[in-house]
Amino acid sequence: MGMSWTRRPIYLDYRAPSVRGLLNCGLSCCINALLQSLSATTELLNLLNRWLPPDDFEDHHNVPLELKRVLHAMRDQLQPAPHRDFLDCLHHNYVHRFTQHDADEVFHSILNLIKQQMLDHELVAEIQNLFKIVMEGHIQCLECAYVHRVPTFSLNLPLHLCEEKNTLEDCIRSFFKIQVLEDSDKFCCDRCEEKQTVAQGFKIVSLPSILCIHLKRFRNDNGLIKKLYCQVTFPKSFSMTEILTEQYAPEQTLKDKYTLYAVIVHSGSPMFGHYTAYIFSTKDCTWYYTDDSHVHRASWTDVQQTYDGSFRTGSAYMLLYRRSSSEALQESSE
Ligand SMILES: [Zn+2]
Repeated sequence: MGMSWTRRPIYLDYRAPSVRGLLNCGLSCCINALLQSLSATTELLNLLNRWLPPDDFEDHHNVPLELKRVLHAMRDQLQPAPHRDFLDCLHHNYVHRFTQHDADEVFHSILNLIKQQMLDHELVAEIQNLFKIVMEGHIQCLECAYVHRVPTFSLNLPLHLCEEKNTLEDCIRSFFKIQVLEDSDKFCCDRCEEKQTVAQGFKIVSLPSILCIHLKRFRNDNGLIKKLYCQVTFPKSFSMTEILTEQYAPEQTLKDKYTLYAVIVHSGSPMFGHYTAYIFSTKDCTWYYTDDSHVHRASWTDVQQTYDGSFRTGSAYMLLYRRSSSEALQESSE
Protein backbone atom coordinates (compact mmCIF):
# COMPACT_ATOMS: atom_id res chain seq x y z
CA MET A 1 0.00 0.00 0.00
CA GLY A 2 2.78 2.43 0.93
CA MET A 3 0.43 5.09 2.29
CA SER A 4 1.04 6.37 5.73
CA TRP A 5 -1.09 8.74 7.75
CA THR A 6 1.45 10.40 9.93
CA ARG A 7 -0.25 13.81 10.08
CA ARG A 8 -2.34 14.31 13.14
CA PRO A 9 -5.98 15.26 12.53
CA ILE A 10 -6.65 18.98 12.88
CA TYR A 11 -10.02 18.67 14.66
CA LEU A 12 -8.45 16.99 17.63
CA ASP A 13 -11.27 17.69 20.09
CA TYR A 14 -13.95 16.45 17.72
CA ARG A 15 -12.53 12.97 17.51
CA ALA A 16 -14.75 10.30 18.89
CA PRO A 17 -13.48 9.07 22.23
CA SER A 18 -11.72 5.75 21.88
CA VAL A 19 -13.46 4.48 24.99
CA ARG A 20 -17.15 3.56 24.81
CA GLY A 21 -19.63 4.24 27.63
CA LEU A 22 -21.91 1.69 29.28
CA LEU A 23 -25.48 2.40 30.40
CA ASN A 24 -26.26 1.99 34.05
CA CYS A 25 -28.74 -0.89 34.10
CA GLY A 26 -29.92 -1.83 37.56
CA LEU A 27 -27.07 -0.46 39.71
CA SER A 28 -24.47 -1.81 37.31
CA CYS A 29 -21.92 0.99 37.89
CA CYS A 30 -19.56 -1.40 39.66
CA ILE A 31 -19.61 -3.93 36.83
CA ASN A 32 -19.40 -1.07 34.31
CA ALA A 33 -16.25 0.36 35.89
CA LEU A 34 -14.74 -3.11 36.01
CA LEU A 35 -15.70 -3.79 32.38
CA GLN A 36 -13.97 -0.57 31.35
CA SER A 37 -10.81 -1.73 33.12
CA LEU A 38 -11.03 -5.19 31.59
CA SER A 39 -11.65 -3.62 28.19
CA ALA A 40 -8.42 -1.64 28.60
CA THR A 41 -6.71 -4.92 29.49
CA THR A 42 -6.36 -5.85 25.82
CA GLU A 43 -4.31 -8.92 26.78
CA LEU A 44 -7.49 -10.46 28.24
CA LEU A 45 -9.53 -10.12 25.03
CA ASN A 46 -6.57 -11.48 23.04
CA LEU A 47 -6.65 -14.60 25.21
CA LEU A 48 -10.46 -14.90 25.10
CA ASN A 49 -10.25 -14.61 21.30
CA ARG A 50 -8.12 -17.73 21.22
CA TRP A 51 -10.93 -19.69 22.84
CA LEU A 52 -12.93 -21.52 20.21
CA PRO A 53 -16.00 -23.13 21.74
CA PRO A 54 -17.85 -25.56 19.40
CA ASP A 55 -20.05 -23.90 16.73
CA ASP A 56 -23.26 -24.99 18.39
CA PHE A 57 -22.12 -23.67 21.78
CA GLU A 58 -24.84 -21.13 22.68
CA ASP A 59 -24.89 -20.82 26.42
CA HIS A 60 -26.03 -17.37 27.50
CA HIS A 61 -25.05 -18.21 31.05
CA ASN A 62 -21.41 -18.72 30.13
CA VAL A 63 -19.39 -15.82 31.57
CA PRO A 64 -16.23 -16.10 29.40
CA LEU A 65 -18.34 -16.23 26.22
CA GLU A 66 -20.47 -13.23 27.21
CA LEU A 67 -17.40 -11.35 28.43
CA LYS A 68 -15.71 -11.90 25.07
CA ARG A 69 -18.87 -10.60 23.31
CA VAL A 70 -19.18 -7.49 25.45
CA LEU A 71 -15.46 -6.64 25.19
CA HIS A 72 -15.81 -6.83 21.40
CA ALA A 73 -18.89 -4.61 21.49
CA MET A 74 -17.00 -2.03 23.55
CA ARG A 75 -14.42 -1.51 20.80
CA ASP A 76 -14.47 1.15 18.13
CA GLN A 77 -18.05 2.32 18.62
CA LEU A 78 -19.67 5.61 19.47
CA GLN A 79 -22.76 4.68 21.42
CA PRO A 80 -22.94 3.07 24.84
CA ALA A 81 -22.12 -0.58 24.32
CA PRO A 82 -24.87 -3.15 24.76
CA HIS A 83 -23.97 -5.16 27.81
CA ARG A 84 -27.33 -6.35 29.15
CA ASP A 85 -26.55 -9.91 28.06
CA PHE A 86 -23.38 -9.84 30.13
CA LEU A 87 -25.23 -8.43 33.16
CA ASP A 88 -27.94 -11.10 32.75
CA CYS A 89 -25.26 -13.75 32.48
CA LEU A 90 -23.54 -12.56 35.70
CA HIS A 91 -26.94 -12.36 37.42
CA HIS A 92 -27.52 -16.00 36.55
CA ASN A 93 -24.10 -16.75 38.09
CA TYR A 94 -24.98 -15.14 41.43
CA VAL A 95 -23.50 -11.70 40.71
CA HIS A 96 -26.98 -10.21 40.98
CA ARG A 97 -28.48 -7.14 39.36
CA PHE A 98 -30.00 -4.37 41.49
CA THR A 99 -27.36 -5.07 44.12
CA GLN A 100 -24.48 -2.92 45.35
CA HIS A 101 -21.33 -4.83 44.55
CA ASP A 102 -17.73 -4.55 45.59
CA ALA A 103 -15.43 -4.15 42.57
CA ASP A 104 -12.75 -6.37 44.11
CA GLU A 105 -15.27 -9.16 44.75
CA VAL A 106 -16.69 -8.94 41.23
CA PHE A 107 -13.16 -8.98 39.79
CA HIS A 108 -12.48 -12.27 41.61
CA SER A 109 -15.93 -13.67 40.71
CA ILE A 110 -15.38 -13.03 36.99
CA LEU A 111 -11.95 -14.68 37.02
CA ASN A 112 -13.34 -17.57 39.03
CA LEU A 113 -16.28 -18.05 36.64
CA ILE A 114 -13.90 -18.00 33.67
CA LYS A 115 -11.93 -20.75 35.41
CA GLN A 116 -15.05 -22.83 36.04
CA GLN A 117 -16.77 -22.31 32.70
CA MET A 118 -14.00 -22.33 30.12
CA LEU A 119 -13.19 -25.83 29.04
CA ASP A 120 -9.75 -25.01 27.63
CA HIS A 121 -7.60 -25.50 30.74
CA GLU A 122 -4.39 -24.21 29.15
CA LEU A 123 -6.10 -20.96 28.22
CA VAL A 124 -7.66 -20.70 31.68
CA ALA A 125 -4.15 -20.97 33.15
CA GLU A 126 -2.91 -18.23 30.80
CA ILE A 127 -5.77 -15.92 31.85
CA GLN A 128 -5.01 -16.56 35.54
CA ASN A 129 -1.29 -16.01 34.89
CA LEU A 130 -2.08 -12.60 33.42
CA PHE A 131 -2.91 -11.46 36.99
CA LYS A 132 -1.17 -14.07 39.14
CA ILE A 133 1.23 -12.88 41.83
CA VAL A 134 3.19 -15.95 42.90
CA MET A 135 4.62 -15.76 46.40
CA GLU A 136 6.24 -17.91 49.03
CA GLY A 137 5.05 -17.52 52.57
CA HIS A 138 7.70 -17.89 55.28
CA ILE A 139 6.17 -18.87 58.57
CA GLN A 140 8.62 -19.20 61.42
CA CYS A 141 7.58 -20.90 64.62
CA LEU A 142 8.70 -18.66 67.48
CA GLU A 143 8.92 -21.69 69.80
CA CYS A 144 11.22 -24.04 67.83
CA ALA A 145 12.41 -21.61 65.10
CA TYR A 146 11.39 -24.01 62.31
CA VAL A 147 10.53 -22.20 59.05
CA HIS A 148 7.55 -23.46 57.04
CA ARG A 149 7.66 -22.46 53.39
CA VAL A 150 4.17 -22.18 51.96
CA PRO A 151 3.68 -21.53 48.24
CA THR A 152 0.80 -19.17 47.65
CA PHE A 153 -0.63 -16.91 44.97
CA SER A 154 -3.04 -14.04 44.62
CA LEU A 155 -4.82 -12.49 41.63
CA ASN A 156 -4.30 -9.03 43.05
CA LEU A 157 -2.34 -7.32 45.78
CA PRO A 158 -4.67 -6.39 48.68
CA LEU A 159 -3.14 -3.47 50.54
CA HIS A 160 -4.01 -2.44 54.05
CA LEU A 161 -4.26 1.35 54.53
CA CYS A 162 -3.43 3.33 57.61
CA GLU A 163 -6.07 5.86 58.58
CA GLU A 164 -4.06 8.98 57.79
CA LYS A 165 -1.79 9.45 54.79
CA ASN A 166 -0.41 6.61 52.68
CA THR A 167 1.81 6.18 49.68
CA LEU A 168 1.41 3.12 47.48
CA GLU A 169 5.08 2.37 48.03
CA ASP A 170 4.65 2.30 51.84
CA CYS A 171 1.54 0.14 51.58
CA ILE A 172 3.44 -2.39 49.46
CA ARG A 173 6.35 -2.36 51.92
CA SER A 174 4.08 -3.04 54.85
CA PHE A 175 2.39 -5.90 52.95
CA PHE A 176 5.77 -7.66 52.90
CA LYS A 177 6.79 -6.72 56.43
CA ILE A 178 7.08 -9.62 58.86
CA GLN A 179 4.00 -9.96 61.05
CA VAL A 180 3.61 -11.84 64.29
CA LEU A 181 0.54 -14.08 64.35
CA GLU A 182 -0.59 -14.84 67.87
CA ASP A 183 -3.70 -15.73 69.88
CA SER A 184 -6.50 -16.81 67.51
CA ASP A 185 -4.15 -16.42 64.51
CA LYS A 186 -1.65 -19.01 65.80
CA PHE A 187 -0.31 -21.46 63.26
CA CYS A 188 0.02 -25.21 63.68
CA CYS A 189 3.76 -25.93 63.64
CA ASP A 190 4.68 -29.24 61.96
CA ARG A 191 7.62 -29.76 64.25
CA CYS A 192 6.02 -28.86 67.58
CA GLU A 193 2.79 -30.49 66.38
CA GLU A 194 0.73 -27.81 68.05
CA LYS A 195 -0.47 -24.25 67.48
CA GLN A 196 2.26 -21.71 68.08
CA THR A 197 2.87 -18.01 67.76
CA VAL A 198 4.65 -17.46 64.45
CA ALA A 199 6.32 -14.73 62.43
CA GLN A 200 4.92 -14.58 58.91
CA GLY A 201 6.43 -12.90 55.87
CA PHE A 202 6.10 -13.13 52.10
CA LYS A 203 8.56 -13.20 49.24
CA ILE A 204 7.68 -12.62 45.60
CA VAL A 205 8.41 -15.56 43.30
CA SER A 206 7.06 -13.84 40.20
CA LEU A 207 4.89 -10.88 39.28
CA PRO A 208 2.30 -10.91 36.48
CA SER A 209 2.10 -8.75 33.36
CA ILE A 210 -1.01 -7.08 34.81
CA LEU A 211 -0.54 -6.05 38.42
CA CYS A 212 -3.92 -5.35 39.99
CA ILE A 213 -3.77 -3.53 43.32
CA HIS A 214 -6.67 -3.41 45.74
CA LEU A 215 -6.61 -0.49 48.17
CA LYS A 216 -8.61 -1.83 51.09
CA ARG A 217 -10.78 1.19 51.81
CA PHE A 218 -13.57 -0.85 53.39
CA ARG A 219 -12.97 -2.07 56.90
CA ASN A 220 -15.17 -4.17 59.11
CA ASP A 221 -15.45 -2.22 62.32
CA ASN A 222 -17.36 -4.45 64.79
CA GLY A 223 -19.77 -5.65 62.11
CA LEU A 224 -20.19 -2.18 60.62
CA ILE A 225 -18.53 -1.52 57.26
CA LYS A 226 -16.52 1.65 57.44
CA LYS A 227 -14.89 3.43 54.49
CA LEU A 228 -11.42 4.99 54.71
CA TYR A 229 -11.36 8.25 52.76
CA CYS A 230 -7.66 8.74 53.53
CA GLN A 231 -5.03 9.75 51.02
CA VAL A 232 -3.10 7.14 49.04
CA THR A 233 -0.72 8.59 46.49
CA PHE A 234 0.31 6.33 43.63
CA PRO A 235 2.84 6.77 40.84
CA LYS A 236 2.16 6.74 37.10
CA SER A 237 4.86 4.12 36.82
CA PHE A 238 7.23 2.32 39.15
CA SER A 239 9.41 -0.70 39.57
CA MET A 240 9.67 -2.79 42.74
CA THR A 241 13.35 -1.83 42.91
CA GLU A 242 12.23 1.51 44.33
CA ILE A 243 10.18 -0.28 47.00
CA LEU A 244 11.64 -3.66 47.97
CA THR A 245 15.10 -5.15 48.32
CA GLU A 246 16.44 -8.38 46.82
CA GLN A 247 15.50 -10.10 50.04
CA TYR A 248 11.88 -9.95 48.83
CA ALA A 249 12.00 -10.77 45.12
CA PRO A 250 14.25 -12.03 42.32
CA GLU A 251 16.47 -9.31 40.86
CA GLN A 252 14.78 -9.25 37.42
CA THR A 253 11.32 -9.03 38.94
CA LEU A 254 12.38 -6.00 40.94
CA LYS A 255 13.60 -4.28 37.77
CA ASP A 256 10.40 -4.72 35.76
CA LYS A 257 8.64 -1.47 35.17
CA TYR A 258 4.88 -1.13 35.70
CA THR A 259 2.75 1.63 34.19
CA LEU A 260 -0.73 2.59 35.37
CA TYR A 261 -3.56 2.22 32.85
CA ALA A 262 -6.80 1.91 34.85
CA VAL A 263 -8.11 3.27 38.15
CA ILE A 264 -11.42 2.10 39.56
CA VAL A 265 -12.88 4.87 41.69
CA HIS A 266 -15.41 4.60 44.48
CA SER A 267 -17.43 7.55 45.75
CA GLY A 268 -20.03 7.72 48.47
CA SER A 269 -20.47 5.49 51.47
CA PRO A 270 -20.07 1.71 51.70
CA MET A 271 -23.86 1.31 51.50
CA PHE A 272 -24.66 4.02 48.93
CA GLY A 273 -21.71 4.22 46.64
CA HIS A 274 -20.97 4.80 42.99
CA TYR A 275 -18.17 3.41 40.84
CA THR A 276 -16.46 5.14 37.95
CA ALA A 277 -13.12 4.54 36.24
CA TYR A 278 -10.19 6.34 34.68
CA ILE A 279 -8.86 4.44 31.68
CA PHE A 280 -5.71 5.12 29.68
CA SER A 281 -6.41 4.34 26.04
CA THR A 282 -3.32 3.16 24.18
CA LYS A 283 -5.12 3.92 20.90
CA ASP A 284 -4.76 7.67 21.32
CA CYS A 285 -2.55 7.77 24.44
CA THR A 286 -5.22 9.65 26.39
CA TRP A 287 -6.80 9.24 29.80
CA TYR A 288 -10.60 8.92 29.81
CA TYR A 289 -13.02 9.26 32.65
CA THR A 290 -15.92 6.84 32.39
CA ASP A 291 -19.04 7.33 34.49
CA ASP A 292 -21.48 4.74 33.10
CA SER A 293 -22.58 6.10 29.69
CA HIS A 294 -20.69 9.38 30.14
CA VAL A 295 -17.16 9.34 28.82
CA HIS A 296 -14.82 12.29 28.57
CA ARG A 297 -11.14 12.95 28.16
CA ALA A 298 -9.18 13.46 31.34
CA SER A 299 -5.68 14.43 32.39
CA TRP A 300 -3.17 12.83 34.75
CA THR A 301 -3.97 15.68 37.16
CA ASP A 302 -7.62 14.51 37.13
CA VAL A 303 -6.49 10.96 37.92
CA GLN A 304 -4.43 12.29 40.83
CA GLN A 305 -7.58 13.83 42.32
CA THR A 306 -8.52 10.27 43.32
CA TYR A 307 -5.60 10.01 45.78
CA ASP A 308 -8.11 10.90 48.44
CA GLY A 309 -11.79 11.54 48.54
CA SER A 310 -14.57 12.88 50.64
CA PHE A 311 -18.05 11.43 50.79
CA ARG A 312 -18.87 13.22 47.51
CA THR A 313 -15.66 12.92 45.53
CA GLY A 314 -14.30 9.60 44.46
CA SER A 315 -11.16 7.91 45.68
CA ALA A 316 -9.07 5.25 43.96
CA TYR A 317 -10.08 1.74 44.99
CA MET A 318 -8.34 -0.52 42.47
CA LEU A 319 -5.27 0.22 40.35
CA LEU A 320 -4.21 -1.72 37.29
CA TYR A 321 -0.58 -1.52 36.20
CA ARG A 322 0.88 -3.09 33.07
CA ARG A 323 4.41 -4.48 32.94
CA SER A 324 6.90 -3.38 30.37
CA SER A 325 10.19 -5.16 30.97
CA SER A 326 13.26 -3.00 31.42
CA GLU A 327 14.82 -4.48 28.26
CA ALA A 328 11.76 -3.62 26.16
CA LEU A 329 11.90 -0.08 27.45
CA GLN A 330 15.57 0.22 26.58
CA GLU A 331 14.89 -1.07 23.07
CA SER A 332 12.05 1.36 22.50
CA SER A 333 14.10 4.31 23.69
CA GLU A 334 16.99 3.48 21.39
ZN1 LIG B 1 7.52 -25.18 66.30
